[in-house]
Amino acid sequence: KRKPFVAGNWKMNGNRSLVESFVASLDSDVAQHVDVVICPPAVLLSSFNSASFSLGAQDVSAQDNGAHTGDMSVDMFKEAGCEYIIVGHSERREDHGESNALIADKAKKVLAGKLTPIVCVGEPLSVREAGNVESYIAEQLDALITALSVDELAKCVIAYEPIWAIGTGKTASPEQAQDVHRFIREYFAKVDEALANGLRILYGGSVKPDNAKTLFAQADVDGGLIGGASLKVEDFISICQAAN
Ligand code: 13P
Repeated sequence: KRKPFVAGNWKMNGNRSLVESFVASLDSDVAQHVDVVICPPAVLLSSFNSASFSLGAQDVSAQDNGAHTGDMSVDMFKEAGCEYIIVGHSERREDHGESNALIADKAKKVLAGKLTPIVCVGEPLSVREAGNVESYIAEQLDALITALSVDELAKCVIAYEPIWAIGTGKTASPEQAQDVHRFIREYFAKVDEALANGLRILYGGSVKPDNAKTLFAQADVDGGLIGGASLKVEDFISICQAAN
C-alpha cells in the first residue's frame, strides 16, 4: 500500500506570519497517516521549526555550485532542512524555458543528494483538446526514464498537473485524473512492475477541500500537490485529512 502524500506549493506567496500560523496549527495528528510537505519560497525555509511536517523546495539548480547567480543547490536546500524538491513545475517550464532534459538532470541531482524529487508533468489545454495527452506525458516521462536508473525512479514522486487546471478553479474530474494517473503507472510498469506499483503519483490543479476526497479516492491518485489552497491553513489541513 502506498502512503498518501500531500504537498503544499506556496509558489511566490507567503511571509513569516503565514509560516507561524502553519507551525502553530499543523500538528502531527494531521500527518499521522499522510506524508505532509510544505514547499515555501526558499527565503522562508529557515523560519519553519516544526517536526510535524517536512519541508521542500520549489526548484533547484542542476549544478553543484559556482557562478550561477540567483540559483540554489541541492546541498543548500538540504542544509536548510528540505527533504523534497519540486522539479519541472509547469511554471518553471513556461517562465524559464526548462526542458524535459534539464528537468531530468535536476531530478538526478536531487537524488544524488539523497533528497526526493517531486517531478511534475502535465499538458496544456491545446494538447488535451487535440486528444494528445498520453503522447505528451509520455515524452515528459521518457526524459526521466532515460536519465534515471530503476532504483532512482523508484525514489521519485510524480505529480500530474494539467496546466489548464492550475489556478483556474477548473479541476480535472476524478475520471480525467484517474485516466492519466493509470496511464503514468502503466508507463512505468513497462520499465519495472514493482517500481510502478510503489510509485506515488500526486494530482495537482485546483485541489480544494470540497473536491480532494473524490480525487484522492481514485485508484492511482496517491495524494495531491496543492497551490492556492495550501496558503490557508484550515483548507490545507482538511485536504490532508481527505488523504487519510
Ligand atoms: P492550484 O492548486 O492553485 O491550482 O496550483 C496547483 C499547482 O500548481 C501546485 O503545484
